[in-house]
Amino acid sequence: MILQSLNFKGPSKETNIVTNLLISLRKKKTLSKKEFLFILDNITQKEYKDLIELAIDVRSRHFGNSVYMRALIEISNYCSKSCNYCGIRSHNQFVERYRLDKDTILECAKQGYELGYRTFVLQAGEDAYFTDKRMIDIISSIKAEYPDAAITISIGERSKESYQKMYEAGADRYLLRHEAASKKLYERLHPESMSYDNRINCLSYLREIGYQVGAGIMVGSPTQTNEDLVEDLLFLKDLNPEMCGIGPYLCHSDTPLKGSRSGTLDETLVMVALTRLILPDCLLPATTALGTLSPTGREEALRAGANVIMPNISPTEHSIKYEIYPDKLSTGDEAASSKDNIENKISNAGFKVDMGIGHHRKFGGR
Ligand code: SAH
Repeated sequence: MILQSLNFKGPSKETNIVTNLLISLRKKKTLSKKEFLFILDNITQKEYKDLIELAIDVRSRHFGNSVYMRALIEISNYCSKSCNYCGIRSHNQFVERYRLDKDTILECAKQGYELGYRTFVLQAGEDAYFTDKRMIDIISSIKAEYPDAAITISIGERSKESYQKMYEAGADRYLLRHEAASKKLYERLHPESMSYDNRINCLSYLREIGYQVGAGIMVGSPTQTNEDLVEDLLFLKDLNPEMCGIGPYLCHSDTPLKGSRSGTLDETLVMVALTRLILPDCLLPATTALGTLSPTGREEALRAGANVIMPNISPTEHSIKYEIYPDKLSTGDEAASSKDNIENKISNAGFKVDMGIGHHRKFGGR
Protein backbone atom coordinates (compact mmCIF):
# COMPACT_ATOMS: atom_id res chain seq x y z
CA MET A 1 0.00 0.00 0.00
CA ILE A 2 1.42 3.36 -0.93
CA LEU A 3 1.77 6.62 0.93
CA GLN A 4 0.87 5.24 4.32
CA SER A 5 2.87 8.04 5.83
CA LEU A 6 0.35 10.59 4.55
CA ASN A 7 -1.73 9.68 7.57
CA PHE A 8 0.94 10.78 10.04
CA LYS A 9 -0.02 13.99 11.79
CA GLY A 10 3.23 15.26 13.27
CA PRO A 11 6.32 16.43 11.38
CA SER A 12 8.67 13.59 10.56
CA LYS A 13 12.42 13.88 10.68
CA GLU A 14 12.46 13.30 6.93
CA THR A 15 10.39 16.46 6.42
CA ASN A 16 13.15 18.70 5.19
CA ILE A 17 14.55 16.09 2.89
CA VAL A 18 11.19 15.52 1.18
CA THR A 19 10.46 19.25 0.84
CA ASN A 20 13.94 19.90 -0.54
CA LEU A 21 13.49 17.09 -3.04
CA LEU A 22 10.18 18.58 -4.15
CA ILE A 23 11.76 22.00 -4.62
CA SER A 24 14.54 20.44 -6.61
CA LEU A 25 12.00 18.47 -8.68
CA ARG A 26 10.18 21.65 -9.54
CA LYS A 27 13.45 23.17 -10.76
CA LYS A 28 14.93 20.17 -12.58
CA LYS A 29 11.61 18.61 -13.67
CA THR A 30 12.99 15.22 -12.82
CA LEU A 31 14.67 13.26 -10.05
CA SER A 32 16.43 9.93 -9.73
CA LYS A 33 14.54 6.73 -9.06
CA LYS A 34 15.81 6.75 -5.48
CA GLU A 35 14.71 10.33 -4.89
CA PHE A 36 11.20 9.78 -6.27
CA LEU A 37 10.89 6.71 -4.10
CA PHE A 38 12.05 8.63 -1.07
CA ILE A 39 9.27 11.17 -1.65
CA LEU A 40 6.55 8.53 -2.01
CA ASP A 41 7.78 6.55 0.98
CA ASN A 42 8.10 9.53 3.31
CA ILE A 43 5.64 12.21 2.30
CA THR A 44 3.42 13.37 5.19
CA GLN A 45 0.56 15.85 5.32
CA LYS A 46 2.96 18.75 5.60
CA GLU A 47 5.01 17.96 2.51
CA TYR A 48 1.81 17.04 0.71
CA LYS A 49 0.74 20.65 1.17
CA ASP A 50 4.12 21.82 -0.16
CA LEU A 51 3.73 19.52 -3.16
CA ILE A 52 0.26 20.84 -3.96
CA GLU A 53 1.49 24.43 -3.69
CA LEU A 54 4.36 23.78 -6.06
CA ALA A 55 2.09 21.99 -8.54
CA ILE A 56 -0.50 24.75 -8.54
CA ASP A 57 2.19 27.34 -9.05
CA VAL A 58 3.62 25.49 -12.06
CA ARG A 59 0.11 25.00 -13.41
CA SER A 60 -0.75 28.69 -13.13
CA ARG A 61 2.51 29.82 -14.69
CA HIS A 62 1.83 27.64 -17.73
CA PHE A 63 -1.96 27.82 -18.02
CA GLY A 64 -3.21 30.57 -15.72
CA ASN A 65 -6.37 29.30 -14.07
CA SER A 66 -7.89 27.89 -17.28
CA VAL A 67 -9.64 24.55 -17.33
CA TYR A 68 -9.97 23.03 -20.78
CA MET A 69 -13.24 21.30 -21.55
CA ARG A 70 -13.51 18.16 -23.70
CA ALA A 71 -16.80 16.49 -24.59
CA LEU A 72 -16.61 12.74 -24.04
CA ILE A 73 -18.74 10.45 -26.24
CA GLU A 74 -18.63 6.77 -25.28
CA ILE A 75 -19.33 5.17 -28.64
CA SER A 76 -19.34 1.49 -27.62
CA ASN A 77 -18.95 -0.75 -24.59
CA TYR A 78 -18.25 -3.87 -26.65
CA CYS A 79 -14.73 -5.03 -25.95
CA SER A 80 -12.66 -7.93 -27.23
CA LYS A 81 -10.12 -7.54 -24.42
CA SER A 82 -10.49 -8.75 -20.87
CA CYS A 83 -8.45 -6.41 -18.66
CA ASN A 84 -8.66 -7.78 -15.13
CA TYR A 85 -9.83 -4.49 -13.60
CA CYS A 86 -12.31 -3.28 -16.19
CA GLY A 87 -16.07 -3.61 -15.86
CA ILE A 88 -16.66 -3.78 -19.62
CA ARG A 89 -14.13 -6.63 -20.16
CA SER A 90 -15.31 -9.19 -22.66
CA HIS A 91 -15.74 -11.85 -19.98
CA ASN A 92 -18.23 -9.78 -17.99
CA GLN A 93 -21.52 -11.28 -19.04
CA PHE A 94 -23.58 -8.92 -16.90
CA VAL A 95 -22.91 -5.94 -19.14
CA GLU A 96 -25.65 -4.86 -21.48
CA ARG A 97 -23.70 -4.05 -24.62
CA TYR A 98 -24.42 -1.09 -26.88
CA ARG A 99 -22.79 0.83 -29.65
CA LEU A 100 -23.71 4.17 -31.19
CA ASP A 101 -24.22 4.37 -34.93
CA LYS A 102 -22.73 7.12 -37.04
CA ASP A 103 -25.85 9.25 -36.99
CA THR A 104 -26.08 9.13 -33.19
CA ILE A 105 -22.39 10.03 -32.86
CA LEU A 106 -22.87 12.96 -35.24
CA GLU A 107 -25.96 14.06 -33.31
CA CYS A 108 -23.93 14.00 -30.06
CA ALA A 109 -21.19 16.04 -31.71
CA LYS A 110 -23.79 18.52 -32.96
CA GLN A 111 -25.23 18.96 -29.48
CA GLY A 112 -21.74 19.24 -28.04
CA TYR A 113 -20.74 21.83 -30.62
CA GLU A 114 -23.84 23.88 -29.93
CA LEU A 115 -23.01 23.80 -26.22
CA GLY A 116 -19.63 25.26 -27.13
CA TYR A 117 -17.34 22.22 -26.98
CA ARG A 118 -14.41 22.30 -29.41
CA THR A 119 -12.94 18.89 -28.60
CA PHE A 120 -14.77 15.61 -29.02
CA VAL A 121 -13.33 12.51 -27.41
CA LEU A 122 -14.60 9.28 -28.96
CA GLN A 123 -13.96 6.46 -26.50
CA ALA A 124 -14.85 2.76 -26.65
CA GLY A 125 -13.84 -0.72 -25.72
CA GLU A 126 -11.93 -2.56 -28.43
CA ASP A 127 -14.87 -3.10 -30.74
CA ALA A 128 -14.23 -4.79 -34.11
CA TYR A 129 -17.36 -3.13 -35.48
CA PHE A 130 -15.41 0.12 -35.62
CA THR A 131 -13.27 -0.86 -38.59
CA ASP A 132 -10.86 1.64 -40.08
CA LYS A 133 -13.42 2.36 -42.77
CA ARG A 134 -16.15 3.19 -40.24
CA MET A 135 -13.79 5.25 -38.09
CA ILE A 136 -12.52 7.21 -41.10
CA ASP A 137 -16.10 7.92 -42.13
CA ILE A 138 -17.07 9.12 -38.64
CA ILE A 139 -13.92 11.19 -38.10
CA SER A 140 -14.02 12.86 -41.51
CA SER A 141 -17.73 13.62 -41.17
CA ILE A 142 -17.22 15.33 -37.79
CA LYS A 143 -14.21 17.20 -39.14
CA ALA A 144 -16.09 18.35 -42.26
CA GLU A 145 -18.93 19.66 -40.13
CA TYR A 146 -16.76 21.22 -37.41
CA PRO A 147 -13.33 22.04 -38.83
CA ASP A 148 -12.59 24.24 -35.82
CA ALA A 149 -12.94 21.34 -33.37
CA ALA A 150 -10.35 18.76 -32.34
CA ILE A 151 -11.04 15.04 -32.41
CA THR A 152 -9.54 12.75 -29.80
CA ILE A 153 -9.77 8.99 -30.25
CA SER A 154 -9.53 6.43 -27.44
CA ILE A 155 -10.41 3.01 -28.79
CA GLY A 156 -7.41 1.00 -27.68
CA GLU A 157 -4.63 -0.87 -29.43
CA ARG A 158 -4.67 -0.92 -33.25
CA SER A 159 -2.12 -1.31 -36.01
CA LYS A 160 0.12 1.56 -37.01
CA GLU A 161 -1.70 1.67 -40.36
CA SER A 162 -5.02 2.05 -38.60
CA TYR A 163 -3.71 4.93 -36.45
CA GLN A 164 -2.26 6.51 -39.59
CA LYS A 165 -5.57 6.32 -41.48
CA MET A 166 -7.54 7.85 -38.61
CA TYR A 167 -4.95 10.62 -38.35
CA GLU A 168 -5.24 11.33 -42.07
CA ALA A 169 -9.04 11.40 -41.70
CA GLY A 170 -8.64 14.24 -39.19
CA ALA A 171 -8.07 12.77 -35.73
CA ASP A 172 -5.81 15.09 -33.75
CA ARG A 173 -5.20 13.29 -30.47
CA TYR A 174 -5.19 9.76 -29.10
CA LEU A 175 -5.60 8.61 -25.52
CA LEU A 176 -4.03 5.27 -24.69
CA ARG A 177 -3.07 4.94 -21.06
CA HIS A 178 0.02 2.79 -20.66
CA GLU A 179 -1.75 1.52 -17.48
CA ALA A 180 1.52 0.48 -15.78
CA ALA A 181 5.14 1.09 -16.78
CA SER A 182 6.19 -1.86 -14.66
CA LYS A 183 5.91 -4.92 -16.88
CA LYS A 184 5.31 -7.10 -13.85
CA LEU A 185 2.37 -4.99 -12.70
CA TYR A 186 1.02 -4.66 -16.24
CA GLU A 187 1.01 -8.44 -16.52
CA ARG A 188 -0.85 -8.82 -13.22
CA LEU A 189 -3.53 -6.41 -14.39
CA HIS A 190 -4.04 -7.98 -17.81
CA PRO A 191 -4.72 -11.44 -19.19
CA GLU A 192 -1.90 -13.39 -20.83
CA SER A 193 -3.31 -12.66 -24.25
CA MET A 194 -2.39 -8.98 -23.83
CA SER A 195 1.11 -7.67 -24.38
CA TYR A 196 2.89 -4.94 -22.48
CA ASP A 197 5.28 -4.46 -25.41
CA ASN A 198 2.42 -3.98 -27.83
CA ARG A 199 0.83 -1.30 -25.65
CA ILE A 200 4.11 0.60 -25.45
CA ASN A 201 4.71 0.15 -29.21
CA CYS A 202 1.26 1.61 -29.89
CA LEU A 203 2.25 4.75 -28.00
CA SER A 204 5.39 5.03 -30.16
CA TYR A 205 3.36 4.63 -33.35
CA LEU A 206 0.97 7.37 -32.27
CA ARG A 207 3.86 9.64 -31.49
CA GLU A 208 5.63 8.90 -34.81
CA ILE A 209 2.45 9.62 -36.79
CA GLY A 210 2.07 13.03 -35.19
CA TYR A 211 -0.83 12.67 -32.79
CA GLN A 212 -1.01 14.59 -29.54
CA VAL A 213 -0.59 11.57 -27.32
CA GLY A 214 -2.15 10.76 -23.97
CA ALA A 215 -0.72 8.12 -21.64
CA GLY A 216 -1.71 7.43 -18.06
CA ILE A 217 -2.29 5.10 -15.16
CA MET A 218 -4.62 3.96 -12.44
CA VAL A 219 -3.34 4.65 -8.92
CA GLY A 220 -3.85 2.12 -6.14
CA SER A 221 -4.39 -0.94 -8.30
CA PRO A 222 -3.91 -4.30 -6.56
CA THR A 223 -0.25 -5.05 -5.67
CA GLN A 224 0.92 -1.68 -7.05
CA THR A 225 3.90 -0.44 -5.01
CA ASN A 226 5.65 2.90 -4.71
CA GLU A 227 8.43 1.40 -6.86
CA ASP A 228 5.85 0.78 -9.58
CA LEU A 229 4.66 4.39 -9.36
CA VAL A 230 8.22 5.65 -9.62
CA GLU A 231 8.56 3.61 -12.82
CA ASP A 232 5.45 5.38 -14.09
CA LEU A 233 6.88 8.81 -13.30
CA LEU A 234 10.16 8.00 -15.08
CA PHE A 235 8.28 6.49 -18.01
CA LEU A 236 6.11 9.61 -18.32
CA LYS A 237 9.13 11.87 -18.13
CA ASP A 238 10.75 9.91 -20.94
CA LEU A 239 7.63 9.66 -23.14
CA ASN A 240 6.76 13.31 -22.53
CA PRO A 241 3.11 12.90 -23.56
CA GLU A 242 0.92 15.89 -24.38
CA MET A 243 -1.84 14.49 -22.13
CA CYS A 244 -1.86 12.18 -19.15
CA GLY A 245 -4.86 10.58 -17.45
CA ILE A 246 -4.28 9.73 -13.81
CA GLY A 247 -7.20 8.30 -11.89
CA PRO A 248 -7.74 6.03 -8.92
CA TYR A 249 -8.26 2.33 -9.51
CA LEU A 250 -11.88 1.60 -8.52
CA CYS A 251 -12.72 -2.00 -7.75
CA HIS A 252 -15.47 -3.52 -9.90
CA SER A 253 -17.12 -6.59 -8.44
CA ASP A 254 -17.71 -8.32 -11.80
CA THR A 255 -14.00 -8.63 -12.49
CA PRO A 256 -11.28 -11.04 -11.33
CA LEU A 257 -10.02 -8.29 -9.00
CA LYS A 258 -13.29 -8.15 -7.03
CA GLY A 259 -12.83 -7.54 -3.34
CA SER A 260 -9.59 -5.58 -3.77
CA ARG A 261 -8.97 -2.19 -2.23
CA SER A 262 -9.61 0.83 -4.45
CA GLY A 263 -7.13 3.66 -4.86
CA THR A 264 -7.53 6.71 -2.61
CA LEU A 265 -7.98 10.40 -3.32
CA ASP A 266 -4.72 11.36 -1.57
CA GLU A 267 -2.49 8.93 -3.37
CA THR A 268 -4.02 9.86 -6.73
CA LEU A 269 -3.59 13.59 -6.07
CA VAL A 270 0.05 13.05 -5.14
CA MET A 271 0.61 11.41 -8.52
CA VAL A 272 -1.29 14.18 -10.34
CA ALA A 273 0.81 16.85 -8.61
CA LEU A 274 4.11 15.04 -9.24
CA THR A 275 3.16 14.64 -12.90
CA ARG A 276 2.48 18.38 -13.12
CA LEU A 277 6.01 19.01 -11.79
CA ILE A 278 7.71 16.66 -14.27
CA LEU A 279 5.55 17.66 -17.28
CA PRO A 280 4.70 21.36 -16.72
CA ASP A 281 2.99 21.77 -20.13
CA CYS A 282 0.94 18.61 -19.99
CA LEU A 283 -2.85 18.59 -20.32
CA LEU A 284 -3.86 16.71 -17.19
CA PRO A 285 -7.50 15.76 -16.71
CA ALA A 286 -9.22 15.85 -13.36
CA THR A 287 -10.57 12.38 -14.07
CA THR A 288 -14.16 11.20 -13.78
CA ALA A 289 -12.92 8.37 -11.56
CA LEU A 290 -11.76 10.99 -9.02
CA GLY A 291 -15.21 12.57 -9.15
CA THR A 292 -16.68 9.14 -8.47
CA LEU A 293 -14.38 8.55 -5.52
CA SER A 294 -15.30 11.85 -3.88
CA PRO A 295 -17.92 14.50 -4.70
CA THR A 296 -15.19 17.14 -4.79
CA GLY A 297 -12.47 14.89 -6.23
CA ARG A 298 -12.22 16.65 -9.56
CA GLU A 299 -12.05 20.12 -8.00
CA GLU A 300 -9.30 18.87 -5.69
CA ALA A 301 -7.44 17.51 -8.72
CA LEU A 302 -7.67 20.96 -10.33
CA ARG A 303 -6.12 22.34 -7.16
CA ALA A 304 -3.37 19.71 -7.40
CA GLY A 305 -2.31 20.70 -10.91
CA ALA A 306 -4.91 19.18 -13.27
CA ASN A 307 -6.30 21.44 -16.01
CA VAL A 308 -8.79 19.47 -18.11
CA ILE A 309 -12.36 18.27 -17.47
CA MET A 310 -14.08 15.82 -19.77
CA PRO A 311 -17.86 16.01 -19.30
CA ASN A 312 -19.69 13.01 -20.62
CA ILE A 313 -22.17 13.99 -23.35
CA SER A 314 -23.10 10.43 -24.41
CA PRO A 315 -26.83 9.69 -24.53
CA THR A 316 -27.84 8.89 -20.92
CA GLU A 317 -29.51 5.59 -21.70
CA HIS A 318 -26.17 4.25 -22.94
CA SER A 319 -23.63 6.00 -20.78
CA ILE A 320 -24.85 4.15 -17.66
CA LYS A 321 -23.80 0.95 -19.45
CA TYR A 322 -20.24 2.15 -20.01
CA GLU A 323 -19.45 1.02 -16.50
CA ILE A 324 -15.69 0.49 -16.43
CA TYR A 325 -15.92 0.90 -12.65
CA PRO A 326 -18.96 1.05 -10.31
CA ASP A 327 -21.09 4.13 -9.74
CA LYS A 328 -19.40 6.02 -12.54
CA LEU A 329 -20.63 9.59 -12.73
CA SER A 330 -23.03 9.43 -15.60
CA THR A 331 -24.77 12.08 -17.57
CA GLY A 332 -26.83 13.09 -14.53
CA ASP A 333 -24.07 15.52 -13.68
CA GLU A 334 -22.73 16.07 -17.14
CA ALA A 335 -25.58 16.27 -19.62
CA ALA A 336 -26.30 19.34 -21.66
CA SER A 337 -28.85 20.58 -19.15
CA SER A 338 -26.32 20.30 -16.33
CA LYS A 339 -23.50 22.00 -18.15
CA ASP A 340 -23.96 25.07 -15.95
CA ASN A 341 -23.64 22.84 -12.92
CA ILE A 342 -20.19 21.58 -13.83
CA GLU A 343 -19.09 25.05 -14.93
CA ASN A 344 -20.26 26.46 -11.60
CA LYS A 345 -18.25 23.84 -9.76
CA ILE A 346 -15.16 24.82 -11.74
CA SER A 347 -15.60 28.54 -11.10
CA ASN A 348 -16.45 27.98 -7.44
CA ALA A 349 -13.15 26.14 -7.16
CA GLY A 350 -11.46 29.32 -8.43
CA PHE A 351 -10.85 28.35 -12.05
CA LYS A 352 -11.96 29.64 -15.44
CA VAL A 353 -13.73 27.43 -17.97
CA ASP A 354 -11.99 27.52 -21.36
CA MET A 355 -14.15 26.20 -24.21
CA GLY A 356 -11.39 26.69 -26.79
CA ILE A 357 -9.82 23.89 -28.79
CA GLY A 358 -7.07 23.69 -26.16
CA HIS A 359 -4.23 22.12 -28.14
CA HIS A 360 -0.96 21.35 -26.41
CA ARG A 361 1.58 24.15 -26.68
CA LYS A 362 3.72 22.12 -29.12
CA PHE A 363 0.65 21.93 -31.39
CA GLY A 364 -0.21 25.60 -31.37
CA GLY A 365 -1.89 25.88 -27.95
CA ARG A 366 -0.89 28.41 -25.30
N1 SAH B 1 -10.38 0.67 -24.77
C1 SAH B 1 -9.72 1.94 -24.55
C2 SAH B 1 -10.42 2.76 -23.47
C3 SAH B 1 -10.42 2.11 -22.13
S1 SAH B 1 -11.39 2.86 -20.87
C4 SAH B 1 -8.27 1.67 -24.22
O1 SAH B 1 -7.88 0.52 -24.13
O2 SAH B 1 -7.51 2.62 -24.11
C5 SAH B 1 -10.32 4.15 -20.34
C6 SAH B 1 -9.52 3.91 -19.09
O3 SAH B 1 -10.34 3.58 -17.99
C7 SAH B 1 -8.54 2.75 -19.13
O4 SAH B 1 -7.39 3.08 -19.83
C8 SAH B 1 -8.30 2.46 -17.65
O5 SAH B 1 -7.11 3.07 -17.18
C9 SAH B 1 -9.51 3.07 -16.96
N2 SAH B 1 -10.23 2.05 -16.18
C10 SAH B 1 -10.72 0.88 -16.60
N3 SAH B 1 -11.23 0.16 -15.56
C11 SAH B 1 -11.04 0.93 -14.46
C12 SAH B 1 -11.32 0.74 -13.07
N4 SAH B 1 -11.88 -0.36 -12.61
N5 SAH B 1 -10.99 1.75 -12.22
C13 SAH B 1 -10.42 2.87 -12.68
N6 SAH B 1 -10.12 3.10 -13.96
C14 SAH B 1 -10.42 2.14 -14.85
